[in-house]
Amino acid sequence: MSSHVLPPPPTVAIPVAGGGTFPVRRVFCVGRNYAAHAREMGGDPNREPPFFFTKPADALLTGGADMPYPPATADLHHEMELVVALGRGGAAIAEDAALDHVWGYAAGLDMTRRDIQAQAKKDGRPWDMAKGFDHSAPIGLLHPAAVIGHPARGRIALSVNGTQRQSGDLADQIWRVPEVVAFLSRLVTLAPGDLIFTGTPEGVAAAVRGDLLEGEIEGVGTVRTRLV
Ligand code: MN
Repeated sequence: MSSHVLPPPPTVAIPVAGGGTFPVRRVFCVGRNYAAHAREMGGDPNREPPFFFTKPADALLTGGADMPYPPATADLHHEMELVVALGRGGAAIAEDAALDHVWGYAAGLDMTRRDIQAQAKKDGRPWDMAKGFDHSAPIGLLHPAAVIGHPARGRIALSVNGTQRQSGDLADQIWRVPEVVAFLSRLVTLAPGDLIFTGTPEGVAAAVRGDLLEGEIEGVGTVRTRLV
C-alpha cells in the first residue's frame, strides 16, 4: 500500500503524431537563441554561452486547447519555438552524440509575461513568474525523429488572427540542437522525458484575449491555441 499522504499528481504527457503519448519529466528553455530576437530584446547577439530557465511540466497546454489569459500581466507575449523531446538522458553528452538522445520534435509557444520579466531583469530577480505560470507552454503534436529526422533548417513562423507576427529559420539559431543538448547536459543530468524549448525568432509581441495563435515549423509541425 502506498504511503503517499496525497494522491500523486497525474503524469503530464504530450500526444504523439501517429498515436501514443510522450510522458514529460522537465521543461527547459533556452534564452536568446536567434540573433535578431536577441537584438530586439536589447541583448548581444554574439555567441555567448546559451543560458537556460525552466517551466513546470504542468504548464504544458496540449491538444489545441484554449489558453486562459494569465493573471498579473498586461503584456503577454508569444514566443514561437522548436521543442526538442529527449528519449534518453545523460550527463556531459558529447555534441556529436547529442541527437541520439532526441526522441522527437514539436512546435511550441513560450508564453511570457513580458512586464513581469522586464521588472525581474531590472531588479536582478529570477524569471520564474514571467515564464513558468499556468498554461504558459502550449505545444502541438510531438513528431518522432524516426519519422521526420532531425530538422536543422526550415521556416519557423507564427501568425495571430491570420496575420504573420514571427518568422525565421531554424538555420538561424545561434546554438543548434546538438550544442544545446550538450551544454544543458553539463549543467544537469538529463533524463528521458525532458523537453527543451530552443528559443524564438524575432517578432515577439503582445497577444490579447480572443487572439488565435497559429505556429508552424517547416518539416516539424504546428501549434495552435486561442487566448480566452
Ligand atoms: Mn523563449
